Amino acid sequence: APRLRVAPSPTGDPHVGTAYMSLFNLAFARQQGGSFVLRIEDTDRARFREDSEQQVYDTLHWLGLNWDEGPDVGGPYAPYRQSERLDTYRPYVERLLDEGKAYHCWCSTERLSTMREIQQKSKLPTGYDRLCHGKTREERAELPGFSETPVVRMLIPEDVELQFEDLIRGRVSAPRPDDQVILKADGFPTYHLAVVVDDHEMGITHVVRGEEWISSTPKHILLYRWLGLEPPKWAHMPLLRNTDKSKISKRKNPAARLTWFREEGYLPEALVNFLALLAYPPKEGEGGEDVEVFTFDEFSTDFDWRKVNPVGPIFDLKKLEWLNGVHIRGLEVRDLASRLLPHLETAGVLSGNPSLGELGRLEKVTELIQTRMALLTEAPALVGPFYVADDAVVIADDARAQLKDDAGQVLTAAVTALESIDDTPSGPLGSESGWVAAEIEAALRAAIVEGMGIKPKFAFGPLRTAVSGQRISPPLFESMEILGKTSTLTRLARLRD
Ligand code: ATP
Ligand code: GLU
Repeated sequence: APRLRVAPSPTGDPHVGTAYMSLFNLAFARQQGGSFVLRIEDTDRARFREDSEQQVYDTLHWLGLNWDEGPDVGGPYAPYRQSERLDTYRPYVERLLDEGKAYHCWCSTERLSTMREIQQKSKLPTGYDRLCHGKTREERAELPGFSETPVVRMLIPEDVELQFEDLIRGRVSAPRPDDQVILKADGFPTYHLAVVVDDHEMGITHVVRGEEWISSTPKHILLYRWLGLEPPKWAHMPLLRNTDKSKISKRKNPAARLTWFREEGYLPEALVNFLALLAYPPKEGEGGEDVEVFTFDEFSTDFDWRKVNPVGPIFDLKKLEWLNGVHIRGLEVRDLASRLLPHLETAGVLSGNPSLGELGRLEKVTELIQTRMALLTEAPALVGPFYVADDAVVIADDARAQLKDDAGQVLTAAVTALESIDDTPSGPLGSESGWVAAEIEAALRAAIVEGMGIKPKFAFGPLRTAVSGQRISPPLFESMEILGKTSTLTRLARLRD
């Protein structure tokens, strides 16, 4: 069965690209009944960040993109962290050195950067000039730009194979590589050696990664050939682009950080759906129409590399927001309510440990606002008024500004009309009459719209403001029902006085 992997480097907040690569790897692995491996590529010690690995786990778990083997869960090919596999790489390097496929290089970083500058200035192709090739340490030490600890470089032959088959792109051509460093002065392998050794040792059958690695693939193919190993199949995913076609990057775009989506109130289901649609066509509905809303399982069930669009997709947050609203509306109320909790806690609306009563009320409120949200972060403003004390409702400036001269009379009439509704619970399943939205509405319409001849728009604005403090709020009569008679009357009277 196929074995796929995602291989993030723990260099900071996880990149949205890591989720996108994981998604496509996993879709194929699941569709084929294969395995999905998480490998941590931490050989770049300069960019290593301690908390990054845990963030990778958290964000991928949040998205439901779960792995079968990895540093945290173990597996038959452990360890899955490259820094713990240094002994694995060494014999491969020795063998390449012995066979003359690779050589030591003692050139100092100063020499290499001067060389690159000169090459660039004189418009020459950049690349290592092989000064160290064929020299012993002693011979090389005689020459300038010598550094005590050598690196190991590949000796790229004239006939290096530059073409390969890609599952998405068909036949691909890459430029001729430089004499790539495979072992660094600090004894760590570079990505290129480690990726080939590990993909081989871990039995990886399909390497699915970003298109920025196309130019590296000839080096990898060469290493497989030299080591007598069978190469995997390759699929290079199109990189995600900004609207100006530039590649999205964490330095320029907050939405390149996976944690951002969680903080901003996106649902993992919506992000997964969105990432899939970026490089994959919509599904086909029963009548042949495009279906853009789908789950991971629906996506993976008939996954096919040939359908992946190789052209860099534009990362359009408007589309994601729309999808998010659709997925929010598709959730069970109770599920949605529980997902609102962290946002309500962050906003200070509820504590991290709400009471049963507070949770019960949250479900009722959630039902009212489910169709009114595109982002979970919109919830605190809508939910907040249901949890403040009656004498602490803050009346927003824009809500106060639109109150008309007759607002006092409207509020007075509302109080009188509502006072006459009996709010003692009736019936075994709670009230069907009494303090329920329909009766509240009927009483208010009779008193204010009919009784006072005020149009509904003006009749209910002051009531909405009194109850929620806002100009726009969840449906008014349902809100009053949830708040209860006492709170509702207190709030109406408070704005009136
Ligand atoms: P930058 O700040 O330029 O984004 P970075 O260091 O944050 O760089 P990398 O470490 O280069 O990001 O990439 C992390 C992972 O995310 C890699 O697997 C890479 O393939 C992927 N990636 C980076 N940019 C994109 C992109 N625009 N679209 C899809 N995947 C990307
Ligand atoms: N560590 C590499 C990255 O983060 C992995 C690339 C690959 O999948 O081969 O981009």
